[in-house]
Amino acid sequence: MIITLKPGTTEKGIQHIVEKIKELGFTPHISHGKERTIIGVIGENPIRTRHLFEAMFIVESITPISKPYKLVSRELKKEDTCVKVGNVKVGGKKVVIMAGPCAVENKPLLLEVAKAVKKAGAKVLRGGAFKPRTSPYSFQGLGEEGLKYLAEVREITGLPVVTEAMDVRQIELVSRYADIIQIGARNMQNFDLLKEVGKGGKPVLLKRGMAATLKEFLMSAEYILSGGNYQVILCERGIRTFENSTRFTLDLSSVALIKNLSHLPVVVDPSHGTGQRDLITPLSRAAIAAGADGLLIEVHSKPEEALSDGFQSILPSHFENLVKEVEKIARSMGREI
Ligand code: PEP
Ligand code: MN
Repeated sequence: MIITLKPGTTEKGIQHIVEKIKELGFTPHISHGKERTIIGVIGENPIRTRHLFEAMFIVESITPISKPYKLVSRELKKEDTCVKVGNVKVGGKKVVIMAGPCAVENKPLLLEVAKAVKKAGAKVLRGGAFKPRTSPYSFQGLGEEGLKYLAEVREITGLPVVTEAMDVRQIELVSRYADIIQIGARNMQNFDLLKEVGKGGKPVLLKRGMAATLKEFLMSAEYILSGGNYQVILCERGIRTFENSTRFTLDLSSVALIKNLSHLPVVVDPSHGTGQRDLITPLSRAAIAAGADGLLIEVHSKPEEALSDGFQSILPSHFENLVKEVEKIARSMGREI
């Protein structure tokens, strides 16, 4: 439930309520608004204790949160959340484009792509060092060596880095190198992994599972926020449907719907979402038109030689054009790149 305090409530008053919430076995989540402080009371069925708070003279109102996801919900927080990654803000006025190869393959290639995407307007470098592959015989990623290359290329280009952790045992290592920890589609409901990144302070890019409903997606984000980490970026990357002419079906209605249901920023990955190079620019435009806060795009300077997802990777020149196209849509929406 949400306890809204009267304007001008003192710190002492807030602490009094916080203590009471803890005493009852719930977790308080305080959010200081411009005029009012609101306290989310999170736990199992806190609404049954509403009478204990209703009588307090500093309490303005008590509202139940109707959705199963609480901290993620717009009901709890009306303003958009802005996730800060160095100087980059995801969820603000600017549309943030994250780009780079599917996998980190070697340093010269990573550097070449990073420089090109930066020049074209990307603000974050992507690249997997731990790759979730369908076949155990496919390239699995360079592991720590790949993370080191990402960090070195960040040093040179200044681009913050997003990279995936596939397992709880990798979190500590990935956190040492990454600016944003990616949780991949296949791990969206790996609850131990979600709990672990929830304990840390690093921003998380949570990708939607390919067979996950929006409710399940938001419940996964709730795991991370409930651990104390509010820095979560949601990523729509396509779902499995009966349609098989694209790799997945990029569900752009989820973007508009998530914006209604949640305050968290949403980015769209049309590379995995379509699996087709020539669909990436149109779907990028559509994603921004639907209200996405950013994009995640696979770029490779030699897609035909890529060790993973070459068929959906675009050339740097193609990416440059994509950014120009997306910029037009962003401007028409009152946003910038
Ligand atoms: C990726 O972005 O590198 C990736 C593996 O994507 P997904 O988890 O969405 O398949
Ligand atoms: Mn990929």
